Amino acid sequence: MRQMNCPKGHGAMEEKKIERSVPFKGVEVNFIEEAFICPVCKLSAGTVHSAGKIQQAMAEAYRQQTGLLTGENIKRLRKEKEMTQADLAELSGFGLASIKRWETGAIQSQSADKTLRLHLVDACVEDDVTGNRDLSIPKILLVLTAFQVALGRAILIENDMMLFAAKYLWYADMLAKKELGRSMTGATYAHLPWGPQLNNYKDLLDDIRNADISKAKALSDSELSIINRIAKHFPEDQMAFEASHKEPAWLETNTGALISYSWADRLNAKFN
Ligand SMILES: [Zn+2]
Repeated sequence: MRQMNCPKGHGAMEEKKIERSVPFKGVEVNFIEEAFICPVCKLSAGTVHSAGKIQQAMAEAYRQQTGLLTGENIKRLRKEKEMTQADLAELSGFGLASIKRWETGAIQSQSADKTLRLHLVDACVEDDVTGNRDLSIPKILLVLTAFQVALGRAILIENDMMLFAAKYLWYADMLAKKELGRSMTGATYAHLPWGPQLNNYKDLLDDIRNADISKAKALSDSELSIINRIAKHFPEDQMAFEASHKEPAWLETNTGALISYSWADRLNAKFN
C-alpha cells in the first residue's frame, strides 16, 4: 500500500477519492481524483503517480462526455473481437503507437473515432449520435431549404451561426429518428448554452452554405411531412428556440456533451 506523510509533520496522510470538476477543452469534465489528505491540517497532496492518473481520468471523462470512445471502450471492444492492438492498427490503417496511446488516455479526433467505430462496433448496433445515417452536408442544406419554403422566410442567415436554423434542423432529425427510425441528415448535435446545436458547427457553417443541394438524397414524403409539421408548430424562430430549452434532451445533458438520438423517444414538443 502506498503511504505518504504530511510534510508539516502530522504523520500518515489518508488516501481519499475526491470528486473534481474542471473545464477541459471547453467541456466541464467530472472525474475522481485520488489524493492524500492530512487528517490534522487537511493539506491535500497528489503524487507524481496520481498526476498521470488524473490526466488519464480527465481524458476518459472528456471522451465519455463528448461521445467519443474511451480508452476502456476501445480496449474492451477490441478484445471482444479477439484483436490485438497490432490487428486493429492494420485493419484501421492507424499506427500501432496511436492505438496504444488512445487505449491509455490520448484523445482521438472525431474522424479517427468514426474509423475506429467502423472496425470495433458492429454495424447492427444503433449509431447513437448520427441517428443511423452517414452525415450528408448537402442534405442539411436541402432540409433547411425545405424549412424556408414551409415557413415562407429565410432561416439560413449570413453570420448568424445558425442559431435558429439549427433548432429546426435538430427537431427534424430527432422527429425523423422517432417516427422513421433514422435521422434525416446524419448530423451530430451537442448541448450548447443556447440549446441543441450542430456539433462542431463552426467548421460546418461554410460547408453547409456552399453545399451542392443536387448531391443530396431527395426528401421522402414522410420527411417532408415532418418538416411541414414542425414549421406549422413553430411559425416563429423564437418558438423553436424556447421549445428546445424545455426538451429533456437539453435539460438532462451537460454543456458540451453530445445529444444522443435516443432522446428522440422523449421529445417534449408534439407535432401533430
Ligand atoms: Zn498535516
